[in-house]
Amino acid sequence: MAATPIADDRIDRMGFLLMLRRRGITDREVLRAMDEVPREHFVSPEYVATAYTDRAMPIACGQTISQPYVVAYMTERLAVGRDHRVLEIGTGSGYQAAVLSRLAREVVTVERFRTLAQTAQIRFETLGYSNIALVVGDGMEGVADHAPFDRIIVTAAAETVPPALLEQLAEGGVMLLPLGPLRSSQSIMRLTKKEGGIQKERLIAVRFVPLLSGKAKEL
Ligand code: SAH
Repeated sequence: MAATPIADDRIDRMGFLLMLRRRGITDREVLRAMDEVPREHFVSPEYVATAYTDRAMPIACGQTISQPYVVAYMTERLAVGRDHRVLEIGTGSGYQAAVLSRLAREVVTVERFRTLAQTAQIRFETLGYSNIALVVGDGMEGVADHAPFDRIIVTAAAETVPPALLEQLAEGGVMLLPLGPLRSSQSIMRLTKKEGGIQKERLIAVRFVPLLSGKAKEL
């Protein structure tokens, strides 16, 4: 019997999951979510053919779509539950929010560039990801009307933890953010809110674009 040909993109996507597993991602739900979200919808047209390579890529407004390994790693460390409400700061392409939406009850994602937010919104609608609420604004302020959040993930680098985000984290909640100097590499910090205090853990070294205050001025 002749072998059934496998479409090229399927081979890429099988390689993608193997790569994530080899790099240490073991959570089955996270791997399922990474498998489910078509990354080629979130990259710029010139990167569609290489959408499943493990690299960050430039998107509009001088920003980047994060490296898939970092998305999977942060998602795994965030330990998202089915009934969780998650806040993401830095929508960018929308890819991280899309992955989170496959695991959580609801995702609220904030972007300071209207152009990026509009493109991401179209992607969410096309893919039928209806449990994502997109907000254009300054994510450093969080989204008070939707607080508290069980999980918060910041996908832009900060030098200090924005106080509004800590306030909007639920008791027992977990927040992940890249913390450190903006011009070099940062560490992913995991903060857990417990009994009136904050437990801190330093995870891997990363390099993210900076978290900037205020809404972006666009031409
Ligand atoms: N999570 C994204 C990658 C984000 S790149 C993805 O999966 O593609 C970081 C994003 O954070 C950029 O789009 C940048 O504009 C945005 N950003 C930076 N500071 C911000 C702020 N204060 N509020 C909201 N978004 C911010």
